[in-house]
Amino acid sequence: MINLEPTISQIEKLLRENTAASVTYAALECRLAIERICYERLRLAHDYISHEDLRKWQPSDIVKTLIQEFDSKAAETFTLSIAREPMPEGSPPPTREDYEAKEWIPLGTQVGFAPNKLGKLWNGLAKLALHIEIPTSKDAAVNQYGDIQAIKSKVTQALAEIKRISEGTLMSSGMGEEVSFECSCGSRNKRRLELLKDGQTINCINPDCNESYDYVQSDMSFGRRTFDIICRACGTSCDIPKRMVEKLKTDQHIHFDCEGCREAIYVSWRPTQAQRTKSPAEA
Ligand SMILES: [Zn+2]
Ligand SMILES: [Zn+2]
Repeated sequence: MINLEPTISQIEKLLRENTAASVTYAALECRLAIERICYERLRLAHDYISHEDLRKWQPSDIVKTLIQEFDSKAAETFTLSIAREPMPEGSPPPTREDYEAKEWIPLGTQVGFAPNKLGKLWNGLAKLALHIEIPTSKDAAVNQYGDIQAIKSKVTQALAEIKRISEGTLMSSGMGEEVSFECSCGSRNKRRLELLKDGQTINCINPDCNESYDYVQSDMSFGRRTFDIICRACGTSCDIPKRMVEKLKTDQHIHFDCEGCREAIYVSWRPTQAQRTKSPAEA
């Protein structure tokens, strides 16, 4: 859990100082706190999602990706409890009444938030406090700071949300059935079964690994995505991770040694021309 208390007191102190400089700094502290809230969720999810799978980097987009791919409850409010007594060994599957009859001890509460709302505050704070207005004419003044009243009002809104989220006592790393596989690099990749879609590409969570896999729903398997390359010298077939090729820019190449004859093989993207020649009958 991140401790937001020192940040909250700091923001409150800056608001009390009530100068253009202090409220501007308070806005920056609010933005950093929002980033910490979102990135902490990401840190918890790191066994389940690869950096490559995060297509957008704004804090609220990261949380939205986590909800779609890691845990549908990543930003929800709930309390987690544990039963005082375990189910006796060998007992029949418990019914709803059995669960309700048990004594539960609360472990903690995760306080949720709306990623869109947090994203809007994050953008709004920057717009008012971290940029100054562009002059629209020669007579317009170029100010040192933004509008102090507007910044204060946005900081107050953000602070209320940060305080609310800081009351959580737990952050869950998700619930639900899990499937996992070991990548050829040795990293164990885990995913929530309910969030996997047929044909979905999974990038290995190891940031130094280029492997990726296609999920096949019918047999719940993960197939390695590769390019099959046949050595022109000895005919050995070598497969290289597809992502290595997908990441290549048009002016780059990769090379590796053939597994059969050790000769270097080069791979690069090339424009290819295709043309349909008319048959004599069509001409
Ligand atoms: Zn890997
Ligand atoms: Zn070869």
